[in-house]
Amino acid sequence: MTNIPTIQPDATPAEILRTGIEAAKGPVSLACSFSMEDVAIIDIAHEAGITMGVFALDTGRLNEETYEVADALVERYRMKIDWYFPRHDDVERLERADGLFSFRESLDKRHACCAIRKVEPLGRALQGLSGWVTGMRREQSVTRSDLRGIELDHLNNGIIKINPLLEWTEQDLIAYTEEKRLPVNRLYSQGYRSIGCAPCTRTVKPGEDARAGRWWWENPEHKECGLHRR
Ligand code: SF4
Repeated sequence: MTNIPTIQPDATPAEILRTGIEAAKGPVSLACSFSMEDVAIIDIAHEAGITMGVFALDTGRLNEETYEVADALVERYRMKIDWYFPRHDDVERLERADGLFSFRESLDKRHACCAIRKVEPLGRALQGLSGWVTGMRREQSVTRSDLRGIELDHLNNGIIKINPLLEWTEQDLIAYTEEKRLPVNRLYSQGYRSIGCAPCTRTVKPGEDARAGRWWWENPEHKECGLHRR
């Protein structure tokens, strides 16, 4: 079984990333949704000379603005993105049976859509990896308050899961993004603070959690898509 290394409380994102990748002892990739967090991690790894793969899940329901960030990253870092798509027969079955917006009818139906469009492709993306990197931050929502910098992902064969930005605040992230002039999804300037699939994401009101705009019709404790169940 892989040992989890100890992370110092003041460890930088680059140190967490490097320590986690060394502990994984094998290939590690960033699960990239082209959020401000993921773009910052790509830049941090680039600056520190840390090698990792980058994969993305194209659910078929992403915003155009998200693809623009992907394109900008490829241009800026000359990097490769491994795209994963849902199984077309599963999507066809879902949409023929339940329509295009079934995810708003119940939590079960929302989970069914996320399972087809996100969780199953994630499983394929993680095959052969010893670890994966996420842009999760502790302050984002109640579902992320007990995050650790490096943990074992027991739901995905016990591989290492690295959360290098766990202690960053939104202000830290914005400051880094502006200082480095990183590519930013244009939806942030319209009031979005966490961007997922287009029909399941909206802008956030003052005082709300960053992820309050995700599946806004659900209770806060349900606001995960199955990628980060712990
Ligand atoms: S976020 Fe919405 S559209 Fe995207 S996979 Fe989940 S339920 Fe489906």
